[in-house]
Amino acid sequence: MEYVIIKCPYCKNYLTAPTNIKTRTCPYCGRKLKIPTLKVIARAKNGREAAFIVKILKAKEAGMLEILYGDKKEKHRSSKSSHT
Ligand SMILES: [Zn+2]
Repeated sequence: MEYVIIKCPYCKNYLTAPTNIKTRTCPYCGRKLKIPTLKVIARAKNGREAAFIVKILKAKEAGMLEILYGDKKEKHRSSKSSHT
């Protein structure tokens, strides 16, 4: 069964869902999500692949992409949004 990877619009966590379901309760914030209204981040052939993609996406968000790709150049500083 094909899966989609979506992002919860409320808590911004990634979650997976089989393509044949239309609603999914977010396991992180408990809200009901209408899958067809959400942007599909990625598609996977099965649940295991979907879980793997989520892992990659989370690593990416955590700033581990440099590690994954072996790029040690860190140009981005941890810029705190200090606009008052
Ligand atoms: Zn959520």
